[in-house]
Amino acid sequence: MTTENQTKIWLEKIQASGYKLTGPRRIVVEILANSRFTLNPSQIHAEALRKYPNIGLVTIYRTLEKLEELGLIWRVHEFDGCHAYVAAPTGHQHLLVCRSCSRAEYFQGAEEIEPISGRLEAERGYLIQDHWLQLFGICPECRKEGN
Ligand SMILES: [Zn+2]
Ligand SMILES: [Zn+2]
Repeated sequence: MTTENQTKIWLEKIQASGYKLTGPRRIVVEILANSRFTLNPSQIHAEALRKYPNIGLVTIYRTLEKLEELGLIWRVHEFDGCHAYVAAPTGHQHLLVCRSCSRAEYFQGAEEIEPISGRLEAERGYLIQDHWLQLFGICPECRKEGN
C-alpha cells in the first residue's frame, strides 16, 4: 500500500468516527501514516510545527489518543519508559523495532507463537486470549554503520 492510500484510508476512518479533522489534527495523521519509524509525541510536535507554527503539544496528544482509540496507531514501549507511536499493521502482526534508528517493521509468525500460548495454558491453567509482541534490536542498516 502506498503511503498516499494509507493517509486516505485513515482520513476516511477518522471522518466516519465523527471526529472533526482540523488542519493541525490532519498533519499529525499525515506524519504518522507516512512514517516508517516510531515517533514520540515531541518528535511529532517538532515535525508538525514546520507546517503549523502554533500547534500545541496538547493537540498532538489528543490526536494520538483518538488514532490509538480507532486502532490506526500502536503505542510502542521504549526502554526509557517513554512511549512512541507507529502506524498499526493490517491484521494480526508483530512489531520489530530498531533501537538505534527507530525503524519499525511488522512480521507474522502466529505458528511459532501459538505453541507458547498452548504450553502456558497447560502449565499455568490460563486461558490465553491474546498477545502483544514487540522485538527490539539493531536493523541491518544500523549494523552496517556499526551503531
Ligand atoms: Zn536502525
Ligand atoms: Zn501473534
